Amino acid sequence: MREPLLELRGVCRHFQAGGLVQALNDVDLSIYAGEFLLILGPSGSGKSTLLSVIGGLDRPTAGEIMLEKQAIHRLSENQLAHLRRRKMGFMFQFFNLLSTLSALDNVALPLRMNGVSTHEARERAKQLLDLVGLSARLQHVPDELSGGEQQRVALARALATSPALLLADEPTGNLDSGNSSMVMELLERFNREQEQTIVVVSHDHAFRSIAHRVVHMRDGYIAEVEDLK
Ligand code: ADP
Ligand code: MG
Repeated sequence: MREPLLELRGVCRHFQAGGLVQALNDVDLSIYAGEFLLILGPSGSGKSTLLSVIGGLDRPTAGEIMLEKQAIHRLSENQLAHLRRRKMGFMFQFFNLLSTLSALDNVALPLRMNGVSTHEARERAKQLLDLVGLSARLQHVPDELSGGEQQRVALARALATSPALLLADEPTGNLDSGNSSMVMELLERFNREQEQTIVVVSHDHAFRSIAHRVVHMRDGYIAEVEDLK
């Protein structure tokens, strides 16, 4: 049996918001290196919360999360921030690029934060922007890019540090169908050619054509795990 890259055991995330909100309830999930995992489910079913606890952006209120045998739910804030910078790449629905930085510097930033020299960070950023088809847009700031282009910059940025896990929350949620397909094709290619482990949260069933497994969320529970490949 292969060892999982990341393992959740009995993970709960409850919020006190007026009443008790059980956003995640007793979630057990293993994520394996090299897989493309799709998390599907209706709005409010806990998908974003699940992705946040997987990525160390949020902490479970109960349960365990092991990343390469390290208990990440026990880390201090500083240790968790360090782990996120080294091991996780994030993509969001609204791209979340820094508006004053060029595409090149947005992609170079996570490397700079990990202590990579400006020159080396920019060289790697150029390579990645080339891979996502944006070598003609290096000096553009986000406002000078289309939504599809911004999301491709965000993808390059998420991959800059060669993260163990690429986590994407509704990465096509704000794109038209042409740009959605382009982002999906790029994710598929990074998974296939570079064995990048990818977890995508979406309600777009088109991701089924590239996912290896589908986790169906309902009311904070995993209702079903579907094997597609
Ligand atoms: P999804 O991404 O599937 O739409 P979420 O994970 O965002 O769902 O939310 C799951 C549930 O948890 C929802 O009922 C939501 O309102 C609630 N929730 C999420 N974040 C918070 C929060 N910070 N405080 C209170 N409730 C929250
Ligand atoms: Mg969500």
